[in-house]
Amino acid sequence: MLDVDLHSHSTHSDGILLPAVLARRAFEQGVKLFALTDHDELSGLAEAREVCESLGVRFVSGVEISVTWGEETLHIVGLNINPQHPSIAAGLGLIRKGRGERAKRIAEQLDKAGIEGTLAGAQRYASNPQLVSRAHFARFLVERGHAKNTQAVFKRYLIAGKPGFVEHQWASLAQAVNWIDEAGGVSVIAHPGRYQLSPTLRERLLAEFCDLGGTAIEVVTGSHTVDQYAIWGRHAKRFGLKASAGSDFHGPQESYLDIGRLPNLPEGLIPVWNSF
Ligand code: AMP
Ligand code: MN
Ligand code: MN
Ligand code: MN
Repeated sequence: MLDVDLHSHSTHSDGILLPAVLARRAFEQGVKLFALTDHDELSGLAEAREVCESLGVRFVSGVEISVTWGEETLHIVGLNINPQHPSIAAGLGLIRKGRGERAKRIAEQLDKAGIEGTLAGAQRYASNPQLVSRAHFARFLVERGHAKNTQAVFKRYLIAGKPGFVEHQWASLAQAVNWIDEAGGVSVIAHPGRYQLSPTLRERLLAEFCDLGGTAIEVVTGSHTVDQYAIWGRHAKRFGLKASAGSDFHGPQESYLDIGRLPNLPEGLIPVWNSF
């Protein structure tokens, strides 16, 4: 088991727990090196750092940036960033503004499908009014009985081709990597096994990411099967990328893996956290 967890969410994005509560949970689960990586948001980092440091857990400031790459939405995790750096703060501010507009469009679509009041409903679940995620819509739709859990809501309403899905333009891959770089951090492709990429596109993404100065990919994540740990470990080696590991914990009822319950990386990989 790893005592490292470099991907998690708090109430400052679409997680269920406050940064302080999450940090304490990391400590209680035996994590020695922990990162908070809220979607497009840095406002929870100070609180998480303070609690980690008081408990003797090493804290890494992180973020998970939403990116549009061709037809695909990708998530790029930035680790060991300086959250005070102006360009990442400004860039994320624009993404959050876009999220607000997207939320209105999602609600309009759901309205047309006969489900009313979802904007206010999702906002009620979003503790951070600047950060409305599809996860907040999903929680509201579960509350209203439209599906039995959030995963079923996604399947039925919120993914491409379903009534509540809208196209959206996030940041570019180059912007995300550059903001992270300027803030002194390293870029990591989050849960690469989750994207629907042909082998050609996969190779193109990994090559482009390397060219831009990307550092690592997540190999061990709550989004990968055990087989995928090995597969993405091999891709990391082929491209000279380091490996990251994170639960992607959102809350006790909503995640495959709890904080601090990650298996070790496959043999022969360079952990991205060696340099932290
Ligand atoms: P957004 O960034 O607003 O599009 O929302 C993406 C978030 O929704 C992810 O970070 C997950 O927390 C959640 N999510 C995405 N797909 C699913 C799914 N199939 N089941 C449950 N939650 C999901
Ligand atoms: Mn999320
Ligand atoms: Mn993600
Ligand atoms: Mn995540």
